[in-house]
Amino acid sequence: MKDVIVIGAGIAGLTCAQQLKQAGLNVTIVEKSAGVGGRMATRRLQGTWVDHGAQLISVKSDSFGRFINKLQEKKIVQEWTRNVYQLSASGLRPPEADARHPRYCCPLGMTAIAKYLASELPIVNNTRIVSVSHNESKWQLTTDRQEILETSAIVSTIPAPQFLPVFEEVLAAAPSFLQAVQSVKFSPSVTIMAGYNASNSVPIEWQAIQCVDDPILNWISYDSSKHLDKSDQPVFVYQSSGEFAKQSMEEPDLEIAGKPLLNQVGRLLAKWLASPEWWQVHRWRYALAEESLGVSCLSTSIPLALVCAGDWCAGKNIEAAYHSGIAAAESVIELLKA
Ligand SMILES: Cc1cc2nc3c(=O)[nH]c(=O)nc-3n(C[C@H](O)[C@H](O)[C@H](O)COP(=O)(O)OP(=O)(O)OC[C@H]3O[C@@H](n4cnc5c(N)ncnc54)[C@H](O)[C@@H]3O)c2cc1C
Repeated sequence: MKDVIVIGAGIAGLTCAQQLKQAGLNVTIVEKSAGVGGRMATRRLQGTWVDHGAQLISVKSDSFGRFINKLQEKKIVQEWTRNVYQLSASGLRPPEADARHPRYCCPLGMTAIAKYLASELPIVNNTRIVSVSHNESKWQLTTDRQEILETSAIVSTIPAPQFLPVFEEVLAAAPSFLQAVQSVKFSPSVTIMAGYNASNSVPIEWQAIQCVDDPILNWISYDSSKHLDKSDQPVFVYQSSGEFAKQSMEEPDLEIAGKPLLNQVGRLLAKWLASPEWWQVHRWRYALAEESLGVSCLSTSIPLALVCAGDWCAGKNIEAAYHSGIAAAESVIELLKA
């Protein structure tokens, strides 16, 4: 039997499991996907890397700054840009001086961080936890292959709306814990990865654009500027607004769901951007927490030791997920001692 099973191999789950392993606990991560990284996601396309989840890393706290510095020394992370431009009805404008702080990227794609963290951790991939039960002393997790995994404690790092169908029933005796998770809402996102003919005149002044108050577009990344030496052709990533994604989430044809984003970027920035040589669409049903809970993680010992972690506890981004993972490790160690 395990001491702790961590559900999810995103940044929160990996950070948490690393801390638990260092504390000498017998820990395993169970991850539904074939890879690691969760929403820090990278696709291998046309011989290059394209980030279709998180686009960049910003740093607020000293401890996360030290983590990023360490990754910079290992050449996993590099500074990408200080200039996130703003696009609104009045046009494109550079950031104010106080918004010019470093944003980091990974030359081999965002998943490089997760791969580094995962390298010495026991991970069971391609395995989804579908239900949870317990007896007096241990949890029993059922996988989508109908295997039963036993553990003294669970750290779940899956987005709140995906946690509920799995855990709602066993948490009937912990109503305040359940209510906190139920209060968290996520917005979806439609993401386009698009490659263009190298003869197009690509921008030199900006790498990233935040779209202000646009009904369709929320974000534009000049993705190939993260790894210029590796890519012969310009590659861009477009992310939709939450409202647009809500409307196109159930559209069965991905190209139909994504085309309005291409049309919009062509209208707003440059006509050629509406006609890529190749493009792919990815839809995130749970992309960004609309409001976070404002706690580092959520813990309960009823019915047994359980901690929820992830960006949605502490914030809405990679740094928040990192801190939440560390807090979850501390919390589950306390619960196991009690
Ligand atoms: C389109 C988009 C753009 C973003 N842009 C940025 C950005 O520029 N900067 C930034 O800081 N943040 C950004 N974010 C947010 C950032 O990606 C997240 O805050 C962070 O990656 C969350 O990490 P996490 O570990 O909490 O969750 P996740 O990365 O979601 O990890 C949860 C893991 O759990 C797994 N899982 C789910 N259910 C189960 C189950 N039942 N059984 C087993 N495994 C399961 C999932 O496959 C996943 O790997 C963006 C997110 C998206 C989607």
